[in-house]
This record gives sequence, structure tokens and C-alpha cells, in this order.
Amino acid sequence: MTVAALIVAAGRGHRAGGAEPKQWQHIAGRPVIEHTLERFAQHPRIDRIMVVLHHDDMDLLKSTDCEITQGGASRDASVRNGLKALAANPPDKVLIHDVARPAVSTEVIDRVLDALQSHPAAAPALPISDALWHGANGRVTASCARDGLYRAQTPQGFHFDAILEAHHANDAPAADDVEVARRAGLEVAIVDGDERNLKITQPEDFARAADALKGSHMTDIRMGNGYDVHAFEPGSEVILCGVPIAHTAQLKGHSDADVAMHAITDALYGAIAEGDIGRHFPPSDPQWKGAASAVFLSHAAELVRARGFDIGNIDCTIVCELPKIGPHAAAMQANLAKIIDIEPTRISVKATTSERLGFTGRQEGIAAMATAALYKS
Ligand code: MG
Repeated sequence: MTVAALIVAAGRGHRAGGAEPKQWQHIAGRPVIEHTLERFAQHPRIDRIMVVLHHDDMDLLKSTDCEITQGGASRDASVRNGLKALAANPPDKVLIHDVARPAVSTEVIDRVLDALQSHPAAAPALPISDALWHGANGRVTASCARDGLYRAQTPQGFHFDAILEAHHANDAPAADDVEVARRAGLEVAIVDGDERNLKITQPEDFARAADALKGSHMTDIRMGNGYDVHAFEPGSEVILCGVPIAHTAQLKGHSDADVAMHAITDALYGAIAEGDIGRHFPPSDPQWKGAASAVFLSHAAELVRARGFDIGNIDCTIVCELPKIGPHAAAMQANLAKIIDIEPTRISVKATTSERLGFTGRQEGIAAMATAALYKS
């Protein structure tokens, strides 16, 4: 058995606002149409996808895994063109779906497909729970019973030959393909819809659709790394991750020379491709002389959040023979957590020696490296 998805994307969608049709506007970083197509492309029971596009949009689709055909003057005409294009190599079943429902779930698609095993047509819907009124001129003119009323969604599924014939026979405008199917005498099963499977219609629906996509595969993950070295000079303490530690030397630098915090800060800048500390706080600028490195770290964390990312975790390794880091690691994690406002359990500070090799081994200075993971959902 073969199943095709027919995605209707030829409309202009003026009610949704914006400079371009709603299917080409972005939510969660990508055009609406890409989210919708991905839902079907990733579904194991869908064999092929036919997309119906407006004639002005034929070159816009970047995805190459779909077949494309041109739409008509109305939604009905567009669906008919899509069915005709599929008929060259007809599938057994077809799911007809509005491109403006990008958050359709695997479960809804499964329920429609399951129902098609025993019905010629099936579609998801939600029972109406709000009271229903008639109104005119801003006044309620009548109440109406809501019993047995549903809000229809897509994908609407059909045995392919049956819906093809129904569309050929249909000569009146229809609200959806279920109406076309019923005119042809097909029995349509109702399966459970999903509130998240909303149709983008009004401008505010873009944000609702983006919310509905949250927690799904849409998470945007970024990684950054940072590395820094500071040399020792005469002194009596070093500052690492903001924690002063008594030592036989201090670290040399323009700021407080907190080598570990610098590595972490650069990892955050790196994850959002925003250069490094030197770009944001030039060493040539006297105002940063002796600065507490917390200023740099909190700036990087603010920039990360301004880009819409959350910090998933940070891992930092300090390379030195002395001082011993272990006894101070918890205080370092707590201090970093406070500066960048995440839970201490998302921060790791650990240390290693370099077996007395190289500059750290000869105790000429301390090196630190850090990794940061960011996510946007
Ligand atoms: Mg540095």
C-alpha cells in the first residue's frame, strides 16, 4: 500500500498579514511550509509528498524530496491539480493537508491512516466546547446548540481513486475535501484532532504555531569552545572562575586575568559566532584595566539570551600543576551559576595537570579550555 501526502500551498493568505503569503513567512527560524513538509517527510507511513504551489512560487521551495505541481484559481482547483499530478502514478491512499497547519502531529496522521483501513475517508476534528451564538451589529441575536458540532482539521484522508473521482464530479465550491467526498456519497470517519494542529489564519497565529512546535524536533543547538592562557608573575593569589585562591604567584593580564572565566566567556561568544572577549572589550581600552572578568561573562550570557538561546551546559577544564583546583570547584560552579543565571548542575569545572610537561608543567602559567552548549526551542 502506498500513501501520498498532498500539501495545498497555493493560497495567498491575506488575512494572516505580512509581506509574503503565510506559508513563506518564518516561524521558529524557518518558513511555515518547511515545518509542514518535514512533518510528513519524517512520518514512516508516508511514501511520497506532492506540493501544490502558486505559479509565482514555483522556484521558492528549497526542499528537493517533494514532487511539485502548480495550483489553480481556487483551493478546489489546486487540490484537483495535485490529485491529477499524483494520478500519473496513483497511490492507494492520499492525505490532503493545508500547508498552514505546520504543527500536525505524528499521532493525528496515524489516526487518519488507521481509520482509512475501514473507511473510504477519514478526517481529524475537535468537538466544540464553547457556546455558539448568532450575532449581528455587535449584538447576540440567537444561541445555537453545539451538540454534534465539530471543528474540522486536516490532513483529510481518502482512498485515492474515490477522492479523485469525487473531485472530477464536483462542480460547486467546497469548504474542504470532506465536503467534496460527501457530495460523492463517501462516508467520512471522524478521528480525534489536536489543539496544536491549528491553522495559521490571523497574524497572532504565527506565535501560537511557533509555541505548538516547541518541544518537538525544532530545537536549535549551538556549541562553542574557548581557550585561554595567562602567565604567572610575582604575587600571592590567583583568581579562577571568580574565586580567589592563595598561591605562590598571580596571573598576569590586563583584567583580573581569570583565565578560566575567559575561556568560558569565549565559548559563549563562539557558540553564537560573536567573536571573542577581545572584540567586545578591547585590551587597548583603559576602562577594562583590572576589570573583574564577571563583566565579560555576564555580557556574553546577555548576548546569548538576546539571540534567543538558553545555555544548556558549560564544561571547563583548567590545566595547571598548582594550585589544587578540586577543593574550590564547587565554589567556582556556584559563582559562575550566579553570574550567568543557570543552575549550578549545568556547570562543570575540573582540572588536570600536564604531567609537568610544557609551560603549565613548568608552572609558568595556567591554561583553560571550555565548551558551551546553547539551545533554542
Ligand atoms: Mg584572557
